Amino acid sequence: MLSIKNNLETLKQNLISLNKDSDITIVAVSKQQTTDKILQAINYGQKIFGENYLQEALKKQEVLKAHDLEWHFIGPIQSNKCKLIAENFSWVHTIDRLKIAKRINDARRGMPPINICIQINISREKTKSGVLIENLDNLASELKEFSNLNLRGLMAIPSNTFDEEKLTAEFDLLSETYSLMRNKYITIDKLSVGMSNDYMKAIHHGANMIRVGSNIFGVRE
Ligand SMILES: *Cc1c(COP(=O)(O)O)cnc(C)c1O
Repeated sequence: MLSIKNNLETLKQNLISLNKDSDITIVAVSKQQTTDKILQAINYGQKIFGENYLQEALKKQEVLKAHDLEWHFIGPIQSNKCKLIAENFSWVHTIDRLKIAKRINDARRGMPPINICIQINISREKTKSGVLIENLDNLASELKEFSNLNLRGLMAIPSNTFDEEKLTAEFDLLSETYSLMRNKYITIDKLSVGMSNDYMKAIHHGANMIRVGSNIFGVRE
């Protein structure tokens, strides 16, 4: 019962050791974790949660609606899910094409703008979602016409590899791209990168929003 609190404490201690604890937003990734575990994190003060699967997330949101939480959608987006995502989340990290952005924008009418990140396919793997880096600026400028979207940042999932050189090259390209984009689009202030096994490296390369799941909640069910 103590472990989720301990895990969050360890995570915070690691951020403090980098002198970054106040600059970094921790998105606690609760996909495939029980509401009971989420409650333990809430009791420790965690308010920001990330979910990948819409139906699973909606059920948890219903159970936990008495708490003042901020929900981030971090999974791939199918067009028929856009409306419910727009209505039930404050952030979407995985915008990678115009059609999805438009649908979310349309469904968000009458509500405060939704915060979005553009997902970059930094490793250029065919199986991965995300826009290729050469198409990023084009997509970002097309999003300007959508008044219900607030472009807040860039998101990426670097290669899952032990090849440190390859990984460092991807992180370097990300941080360079982030600083270029931040200069051009004034609303951009978040680099969403870093998971349980690479968040320290990500922070080293400028990440200020990390998405940590198993390090907080343990192995997924
Ligand atoms: C599952 C997931 C995470 C968290 O992964 P862990 O390795 O459990 O920390 C972060 N980001 C995305 C996009 C995910 O799908």
